[in-house]
Amino acid sequence: MSKILVIGAGGQLGTELTKALADKYGKSSVIATDFQASVSSKFVYCAFQTLNVMDKDSLTSIVKNEGVTQIYHLAAILSALGEKNPVQAWDLNMGGLLNVLEVARDHKIEKVFWPSSIAVFGPNSDKDQTPQKAFKDPNTVYGISKLAGEHWCEYYFNKFGVDVRSLRYPGLIGYKSLPGGGTTDYAVDIYHKAVNGQKFTCFLSKDTYLPMMYMDDAIHATLQLMEAPKESIKIRTSYNLAGMSFSPAEIHQSLQAHYPDFEIEYQPDFRQQIADSWPNSIDDSIAKEDWQWQPQFDLKAMTATIVKHLPAFFNYNQDK
Ligand code: NAD
Repeated sequence: MSKILVIGAGGQLGTELTKALADKYGKSSVIATDFQASVSSKFVYCAFQTLNVMDKDSLTSIVKNEGVTQIYHLAAILSALGEKNPVQAWDLNMGGLLNVLEVARDHKIEKVFWPSSIAVFGPNSDKDQTPQKAFKDPNTVYGISKLAGEHWCEYYFNKFGVDVRSLRYPGLIGYKSLPGGGTTDYAVDIYHKAVNGQKFTCFLSKDTYLPMMYMDDAIHATLQLMEAPKESIKIRTSYNLAGMSFSPAEIHQSLQAHYPDFEIEYQPDFRQQIADSWPNSIDDSIAKEDWQWQPQFDLKAMTATIVKHLPAFFNYNQDK
């Protein structure tokens, strides 16, 4: 039986991915961990333990004591927060990953999942339909750490046979969990403002196109990648992954179809420069070919789903 350890389970992705793992593999097969004990109340459906991934001894103890066979390592400091705390971001994003890879090698973990990001691309990467092997010159500490991390993953696979798999997620958008300091966070916040009857102030300019993905697609891709036969995983750095691509003006328009009076104003801040260095859209044809990835949600379908479920989820009053 698989025993799955999720590290950084309390965040935007972990909250939904951990639930999906418990649904798929059984609640006794999943251990959620996070260094914030306060997130434990989210995990009514599986075990929870406090774990700081920088503490390799504690990580080793959990792996040994619980008989862990798979690790999903999600803990990181994201792009916008990373620019405010560059050294801390580097320490966590690199140190945490190296602890996980070392423990995976030493304790013969069957599979490891570690997310990368479109932040590995930079101002001189191809902007449109950015290919898997595009030139990469990331200019945020987050992007630099993700690019280095991809190569560490490939190194541990080639050198030690650690079966580590990775996806370059675009901006993730869901309604069940809040984002944790990325440049694409606006595309989550905007739904909360629209549903709550408030005006939205956008920190990116109206025509800034970025690659995005509905959370259900991201979960689906992750489970599909991790279930794929080992020999079909041909990219051992990280796979390009695409869902949709849109600008703030377009997501505003898609929300106006449901809330005609919904207003937006634009006040770009330091995150504009980060967004400008990233691709407009991503070519994920290799993921489609290698393990038959196919997204389900476009902007219209995502907006319809979120406006249907968000009010009840956060107890918003739609008549406000
Ligand atoms: P998040 O910031 O919402 O969550 C990160 C979680 O890690 C938090 O619960 C935090 O408490 C925990 N954490 C922080 N430091 C820790 C430590 N030392 N030990 C243990 N836990 C710690 O991030 P997220 O959006 O859920 O992202 C998860 C992963 O996916 C990250 O690796 C991120 O780079 C990647 N990713 C996310 C997006 C996105 O749009 N959310 C896009 C691309 C890649």
